[in-house]
Amino acid sequence: MRNKGITPQPNELKAPEHIPSRRWILQAAAASFLLSVVPRGMAADGTPSVVAVRVWPSMAYTRVTIESTAPLTFKQFALKDPERLVVDLEGIDINSQLQSLAGKVLPDDPYIQQLRAGRNKPGVVRLVLDMKTETKPQVFTLPPVAEYQHRLVIDLYPAHQDDPLLAFLSDQDKRDTPALTKSETLAQNDASAAKPAEKPKAAERPQAEKQAQPDAVDRNTLKVDRLITVVLDPGHGGEDPGAVGPGGTYEKTVVLAIARRLKTLLEEDPNVRVVLTRDGDYFVPLGTRVKKARAVQADLFMSIHADAALRQDANGSSVFALSDKSATSVQARMLAQSQNAADLIGGVKIDNKNPELARVLMDLTMTSTINDSLKLGKVMLGELSDINRLHKPHVEQAGFAVLKAPDIPSVLVETAFISNPAEEQKLVTEEYQQKMAQALQRGIRKYFAKYPPQPRTKLASN
Ligand SMILES: [Zn+2]
Repeated sequence: MRNKGITPQPNELKAPEHIPSRRWILQAAAASFLLSVVPRGMAADGTPSVVAVRVWPSMAYTRVTIESTAPLTFKQFALKDPERLVVDLEGIDINSQLQSLAGKVLPDDPYIQQLRAGRNKPGVVRLVLDMKTETKPQVFTLPPVAEYQHRLVIDLYPAHQDDPLLAFLSDQDKRDTPALTKSETLAQNDASAAKPAEKPKAAERPQAEKQAQPDAVDRNTLKVDRLITVVLDPGHGGEDPGAVGPGGTYEKTVVLAIARRLKTLLEEDPNVRVVLTRDGDYFVPLGTRVKKARAVQADLFMSIHADAALRQDANGSSVFALSDKSATSVQARMLAQSQNAADLIGGVKIDNKNPELARVLMDLTMTSTINDSLKLGKVMLGELSDINRLHKPHVEQAGFAVLKAPDIPSVLVETAFISNPAEEQKLVTEEYQQKMAQALQRGIRKYFAKYPPQPRTKLASN
């Protein structure tokens, strides 16, 4: 979780201190009212200057961010053979920040071969990105939010490939489940949707399906007649560090480490497959996290975070489920707000939001899902209490966007308070990360043993 009030500016993201020139000081003195309205680093005449540049490579997409004191105007065009993207930044001059951009592209960046920045003509800086493969670029600007000033964002998505995670999963699905024809799939879906009582029993299923599931079915144990899919959602990432501890620990780093450990533990069970919504340091919009969980037909969704509060002595673990009304406590509401603000911080182009998601959020038949989520949360609290103090003895409820899959039991776990020096010290150790992962694994196993997932009848969402 993120609390802006205690989040220091991480060093990596820090703009260089502005060293005012003598002339600037005189001008400022002559018009001192400007000081209260002109952001740090801005030239006295209001022209933008670049204060920071960042590159966030990942398999899903690579993001280049150029942060400036005023909105940048730009033109973009693509060139073929070889694949290149050209972005002209207008009304600015090259500076050391822009010059440093080329060096920030890593050799193993999945999409960018190299990047050059240079003065194209007076007042125009040209960025040329040589691509390793054909990409679908999205270039857009974001207004200031939290500690960030204006940002120009260049997102490079693969042109020919869906999300590699989803491609991998669909390959796995082909291996793990019999290929039903489209009409069979639809018939099965229709039957379950319209007349659940008449779903075919195991003995009546098509031969192909039985063959593919040899070790079914004792419903009293964790074993079920199909694979269980668990989606783990390490919070934040990339531009969005989440909360930052007093010792400088990033929430986004700790929660990814715990999620990876939990994935390894859960996959010791051959009936469980685990999908991470992000497996690297890059930003994933909240809506996309939910969409991924729905696309893989998750049986359980767990978002993993570390808490923060203004009071350094705040401590303990918490578990949240979605509330059907507004937040159940002031603190929960505050947390929900700062959590949802992550989309702005990470920078989602609002008009690109998935209308499907908007529909889903409107079309909530969530009461039973929330009940399941509360049961899941209660089991998780029981396990967490073995390794840490509980911040609240009950499952809290709030309007977190990542918990809004209408058909997937979903909880958000605040592992501990990263703002508490003692808990931050624990969170960074491998030993405690493993202990936390083990507690979460036990909770998930107990939940599925007590409440086995239903036979799969749904089509994947689109
Ligand atoms: Zn968080």
